[in-house]
Amino acid sequence: MFWRLFLTYLLLVVAAVGLVGLLIFQRAEDVFFDLVRDVAAAVGLVVLAAVGAAFVLARRFAGPLIELSEGARKLAEGDLGHKIRVTGGTEHAELAETFNTMSGRLADTFHILEHDREQLRAILSGMVEGVIAIDGKRRVLFANERAGHLLEFDPKKAVNEQLIDVTRLAAFHTVVEKGLATAEPHREEFDVPGPAARHLAVYVSRFPGHGTPGAVVVVHDTTEVRLAERMRQDFVANASHELKTPLAVIKSNVEALIDGAAEDPDARAAFLDQVAREADRLADLIKDMLSLSKIESGSLTLAPQPVALGRAITDCVERHHSRADAKTLTMVEKPPSDVTGEVTAWADPDALRQVMDNLVDNAIKYTPNGGRITVRWGATADTVSFEVEDTGVGIPDADVNRVFERFYRVDKARGREAGSTGLGLSIVKHLVQAMRGQVRVNSKVGKGTTFRVTLPRAGSA
Ligand code: ADP
Repeated sequence: MFWRLFLTYLLLVVAAVGLVGLLIFQRAEDVFFDLVRDVAAAVGLVVLAAVGAAFVLARRFAGPLIELSEGARKLAEGDLGHKIRVTGGTEHAELAETFNTMSGRLADTFHILEHDREQLRAILSGMVEGVIAIDGKRRVLFANERAGHLLEFDPKKAVNEQLIDVTRLAAFHTVVEKGLATAEPHREEFDVPGPAARHLAVYVSRFPGHGTPGAVVVVHDTTEVRLAERMRQDFVANASHELKTPLAVIKSNVEALIDGAAEDPDARAAFLDQVAREADRLADLIKDMLSLSKIESGSLTLAPQPVALGRAITDCVERHHSRADAKTLTMVEKPPSDVTGEVTAWADPDALRQVMDNLVDNAIKYTPNGGRITVRWGATADTVSFEVEDTGVGIPDADVNRVFERFYRVDKARGREAGSTGLGLSIVKHLVQAMRGQVRVNSKVGKGTTFRVTLPRAGSA
């Protein structure tokens, strides 16, 4: 641009000088030859001056414009906020200032947009739901980490890829296609088979795009919700069954009494005795169910405090002595030999009592006459523990990990005979966990069972 302007000015100036020379030549022919050298010299000087003037003029007018065009190029290349020098005449200076203001605003707006984009990205990354945005051609525009985790792909590599190449999960594509085909948001759930089987809920909402609409796909892992729902349904079914059994016995006995058994003193005593036993079972069942629902709903508030473990165990053993004696069972307490001083647990006294009672009660229930029950305890720097060991029937390997499930009994018939509800160990596990402890079981069929409870030690928390 500079050179174009310069040559234009130069041409103009040379033309003007040429014209002046021609005029002089026409008007003073006689003195032409005398003057010709002087005029040539003068013309030479004027041409030199003209070249200089043209250069200065071109520079003055073209300089700011060149700088402006250079600035615009830098801006277009992404150098937002680029400033140019404010020089030249008033118009040029104004133009430069406007350019600089525009450039500054562009940089500010870009930073705000960038910040908003980062914020959105952070929100989407932190979501527990997987989020994928696709355009009308099923090309991935965005995918967060969770989506990658749930559908097993790398979200960083997924952008600009076809959705079908990102995940091969057929059920997922079926839902996406259905969602893309309708203007209303579409929701569907399906199971993902495999070693880590999951249940996913997928929501597809279309958004308008150029031509075919794209969609936002939200993927939610509902495996745990499903499991909880199934457990709740199982619980209701089991609870109804458990409640129905003693009620049926009570009802039939009462009917027998009404039908005349009440007249026979021996039969009456037997029927009434069974009614009383089943009523006790019902009461136990309801008490355990209420305990469990209280623990699971979180409405049971524990008040952990230092509890002397030895004292609590002695009290528990005393509470169960008569029942153990009735079965000629030997009950032994074994204090730790390697701990000096009191072993103090950080526990809720009532919850701890319930845990111990349940374990000792089971040991008595599932140990044949003449057996032995040993309760030992000990401590490490941070924890205390106690074990209830019996020489009873034991638990088969296949059942040992399931005994903490609600209503689970190894031997349904014997369990009922022994007056069990199938809820005791479930309550134990929940209470121990609520006190930040652990319960473990070790058992050998025909040899015996040991339950070991570990709790935080008072003063170590
Ligand atoms: P229950 O009221 O039936 O005893 P629990 O939840 O306390 O319910 O125990 C679940 C099942 O675990 C019992 O039915 C029994 O089969 C088994 N079990 C628990 N403790 C022992 C034990 N000490 N010895 C053998 N089996 C046991």
